[in-house]
Amino acid sequence: MKSRLNWDTPLQFIKGIGPYKSGLLKKIGLITVEDLLFYLPFRYEDRTTIKKIAQLTLNDVQMVSGEVRSTRTVVTSKRHLKIFETVIEDESGLLICKWFNQPFLEKVFKAGDKIILTGKVGLNRFEQNRKEMTPLSYEIINNESDDLAIHHGKIVPVYHETEGITSKYLRSLIYNILGEDFLLLEKEKLPFSLIQKFQFPSQSEALRELHFPSSQESFQKISQGKSPFHHRLVFEDFFILEIGLTLRKNQNNRENKGLSFNIDGEMEGQLLKTLTFKLTDAQKRVLQEIKRDMKAHVPMSRLLQGDVGSGKTVVALIAMLIAIENGYQSCLMVPTEILAEQHFFNFAPFLGQLNVNLGLLTNGMTKREQTEMLERIANGNCQLTIGTHSLVQERVQFKNLGLTVIDEQHKFGVMQRMTLKKKAEAPDMLIMTATPIPRTLSLTVYGDLDISVLNELPPGRKNIHTRLFYEKQRHSTYAMIEKEIKEGRQVYMVYPLIEESEKLDLNAAVTMANRLQNEVFPNFKIGLLHGKMKPDEKEKTMTAFKDRKINILVSTTVIEVGIDVSNASLIMIEHAERFGLAQLHQLRGRVGRGSFQSYCFLMACYPISEDAKRRLDAMVKTSDGFKLAEEDLSIRGPGEFFGTRQSGLPELKVASLLKDGQILEEARDEAIKLLQKDPLLDDPENRGLREVLLKRWNEKLDLFSMG
Ligand code: ADP
Ligand code: MG
Repeated sequence: MKSRLNWDTPLQFIKGIGPYKSGLLKKIGLITVEDLLFYLPFRYEDRTTIKKIAQLTLNDVQMVSGEVRSTRTVVTSKRHLKIFETVIEDESGLLICKWFNQPFLEKVFKAGDKIILTGKVGLNRFEQNRKEMTPLSYEIINNESDDLAIHHGKIVPVYHETEGITSKYLRSLIYNILGEDFLLLEKEKLPFSLIQKFQFPSQSEALRELHFPSSQESFQKISQGKSPFHHRLVFEDFFILEIGLTLRKNQNNRENKGLSFNIDGEMEGQLLKTLTFKLTDAQKRVLQEIKRDMKAHVPMSRLLQGDVGSGKTVVALIAMLIAIENGYQSCLMVPTEILAEQHFFNFAPFLGQLNVNLGLLTNGMTKREQTEMLERIANGNCQLTIGTHSLVQERVQFKNLGLTVIDEQHKFGVMQRMTLKKKAEAPDMLIMTATPIPRTLSLTVYGDLDISVLNELPPGRKNIHTRLFYEKQRHSTYAMIEKEIKEGRQVYMVYPLIEESEKLDLNAAVTMANRLQNEVFPNFKIGLLHGKMKPDEKEKTMTAFKDRKINILVSTTVIEVGIDVSNASLIMIEHAERFGLAQLHQLRGRVGRGSFQSYCFLMACYPISEDAKRRLDAMVKTSDGFKLAEEDLSIRGPGEFFGTRQSGLPELKVASLLKDGQILEEARDEAIKLLQKDPLLDDPENRGLREVLLKRWNEKLDLFSMG
């Protein structure tokens, strides 16, 4: 049994686990020996100095061990306070321990239990010579003496517990596994040159120390997050990931011969002449980056990141014109019909002057319109097609697609991007997003894309004043709305749902639009827009809003992305506590698009969770999309941040995208350097790396080919 143990051994075959416990362990993702070894403690307890009861000093946090003599629960008359009390004894004396309002402890402690306690010591109110403790933590240790060696007299790890799995149990399991010799056989994954360069400890030493620090010095460094052991494991995690991503990218570039466009055409200049504004320096810079890619033989896979309102559309339009001038088709995929229509109507006059044929394809169009469009796309008549996800359907066949642009890419799944990419041999691809991506994620989730950042807003934009309101302040928000409208501005009011749902008790857009029109603002024109309306109704409403025939547009989140009406200066978001941070920021981006001072009112309703409060506070504090994204990432964690559908984020064993950003950069640099020297990992020194890469990332890396 012992000799057959290896990293891949399923935990159920380990002594002391068995089918029942292994089922519980599986629930927290622990399936193999390796999983268990990488389940690192979240804190430690220094049990090198356990005091005798007689030695305990007053008012200090100390550790003590003893045997439970008696237990009882005292119910006080005051505020239903229940106190659970035990008397603990060692050779030197007695100690009273008290826990408040934890009645379940009655079932936990029995007389005769051996126990380790940590807590502050005081004197009993009634018997002034009796010491008393309110323990911060406790652990019952009833097993034989060899077990004691694991939990006593050293710095011990404390693990996150789950149902049926205590920290103590995990400690014993891991301690015993760490004692096995198979660990020494573990093949080193990192190339020797890197281990030398960073003076890394071996993996098994790192794991041993992180579970059971062997010295105070090591313990101190680990607690401060500065240990070489932690550094090594995090580095390894990121390094393998970055190697995988870079390999994939290189492979893509080798295998797919892309189109090389002539980038010196005339259309760009003609378009710029007809615009009412000049490109910002940031727009010029990213255009250069895009053009360089379009000229190169390698297919472009570029992510254009720019905060809401930074002017991504015109950049995309110029890129599409370049492809068109070279005799190829372009397409632009957007997440909503409203946005597709908006782009269509905005582009139409410009493209008309340039004699470029434009087309629109959405699922809301009639069968006949769609068939006609499909024909124009297939025979090449339609040079620039704007569409929703309807573009990924199989029946959409381009004659010669050269450039694909995806707007607001965070609204699409990985699969949709990949399908669209396959509409041509190797089209260039430009992916745009207004959801800023923290650098750690752009180096991982988007690791195989090149990234351009529009880090400058067009001139003249004023900071949007964002304020948090509660229900009782509603009348004052209405007064401010009225004032804006009287000055000629327009207003959005956004609701989370379209119809009143008993369960969620939300003020739905439909109901509220009626009430606002009839009771609150009878002198203003209120419009309504939501996802269940027919396409032509939506279009009519949007057009009326643009033409200022509607003062207040009541809407669901269909206006979240892209909508551009520069006269709108105030957005009020109802039930703001229910929206995610990215969504709030996007919604806020609907205003502040012109030169008017703009406002965002967040109307919050109780109860508000702690996370929701953090989101709302963040919104009030900053309008910097990158800062908000960092905050969002820290509230939700990387998994949630993108949602499972989006992320395809490979498993990181130890590294945290939140805390270890610096090590990520380090690992990435080294990964790039290594692959420059040894592009296919043929060097024997890199064999371990190659193996683990195939094993750990192989399937996941497929998901990454979204560029
Ligand atoms: P987003 O990046 O959010 O998609 P848009 O492309 O919709 O932003 O641009 C927002 C608004 O700014 C549009 O009305 C657009 O015409 C305008 N705009 C874009 N570039 C500039 C510029 N360089 N100067 C002034 N206005 C600009
Ligand atoms: Mg946009």
